[in-house]
Amino acid sequence: MKEFYININLKLYYSSILIIIILMSMGLFIGNPRMGELGVGYSWHIVLFVVLSACLVLYPRFETQIFRMIIILVASSYFYLIFFLYPETWSTFIFLCFIPAISIFFFDSKLFYFSLILNSLSITAAFSYIIFIDQGKIFPQIKIDLLGNIANFVGSQIILYLIFYLSSIRIQKLKTYYEQIQHQERLKTTGQLAAAVAHEIRNPLTVVQGFLQLYTEDVSFNPDVKRNFSLMMEELKTAEHVISHFLTFAKPDNEKKLNTIDVKDVLQNVTDILYSYGLLHDNKIEVNVLEDCYVVANIIEFKQLITNLVKNAVEASKIGETVFVQAEKIKDYVEIRIIDSGRGMSELEVKSLGTPFYTLKSKGTGLGLMICYQIVEKYHGTIHFQSILDEGTTVILRFPNP
Ligand code: ADP
Ligand code: MG
Repeated sequence: MKEFYININLKLYYSSILIIIILMSMGLFIGNPRMGELGVGYSWHIVLFVVLSACLVLYPRFETQIFRMIIILVASSYFYLIFFLYPETWSTFIFLCFIPAISIFFFDSKLFYFSLILNSLSITAAFSYIIFIDQGKIFPQIKIDLLGNIANFVGSQIILYLIFYLSSIRIQKLKTYYEQIQHQERLKTTGQLAAAVAHEIRNPLTVVQGFLQLYTEDVSFNPDVKRNFSLMMEELKTAEHVISHFLTFAKPDNEKKLNTIDVKDVLQNVTDILYSYGLLHDNKIEVNVLEDCYVVANIIEFKQLITNLVKNAVEASKIGETVFVQAEKIKDYVEIRIIDSGRGMSELEVKSLGTPFYTLKSKGTGLGLMICYQIVEKYHGTIHFQSILDEGTTVILRFPNP
């Protein structure tokens, strides 16, 4: 399918280029007043025509920024040359106004601003030449109404800027939307798959656990062997714990009680719990809630969300570093930020967050964030990670204000 579209696009591209080359060569060879003279200007016209045509034909093979820049420079030189070479053809001025439009086709903002600035400088130089050196001999129409011509030029550049700006915003929005859909789809399918596997594993685990329990009570086993049994039971309990934890969240459950939660209380409560469990390796947590912030959610789930995120922040931090937890009311939502200056993540790592069992920790389960994503989605909130490798991470949670 993709190849089919590429072929169609290429066909369209080459057909358009063919038409452009035919039009340019018509300008060169049909009724051209400079053709018979074979002067320097006309020779330059031929050279730039050949170079520009070659660039346009070769472009699909070298889609690099440098090549795009070369095309813009060659095209600018071409249009300015024909402007000065054929003053009787007043309409070449229109081409000068629309040179930056070429870079719109490349959808490259740097290149667009580059050509906009380059074109404004070039037109200033061209107009200065016409007014001060040529004094309107070859371009009387520009000198007669200089202000009108400048206004037309500036107007055309503003129109081009608006076209570029609006279409790039739209493309950006589409891109973000597409990425979100992709992310959600991946979470959904992997989540379902993982839930199915977890469910199937739970049954045999229960059977093994039951038998081990029986054997521990059996006097015929010697105490040394029995010690291993309790170790095995411990491990099975951990596995069981992970699985039930996972399954309660993999299952949609809308019957949980909703509370209007005072965010400040929960943040304080969660940090107290983390302190008392000794989970903080000499790290401090600084809570800062600016205003009365409330969120409507099930309090157990909300605590679980904050606990997971703060725990991750602490685990990513080096010993002694502080994790900041802040909350404030912004317009009609409550924003909670969990900020650490720990190991941070690369762009690729951030993209994988929330995928079940994605973990970089030796003892991690990779379920924490998956659960966080589900809780946030359930209460119509958003979660966003800003992270720089080796510098730290900021998690931004937003919930509608009740
Ligand atoms: P776990 O904590 O069990 O590994 P999570 O789903 O909570 O599972 O996190 C998944 C992974 O995301 C972590 O292993 C870690 O690599 C990364 N991560 C999450 N939060 C942070 C953070 N604040 N800083 C750096 N990495 C993080
Ligand atoms: Mg975690």
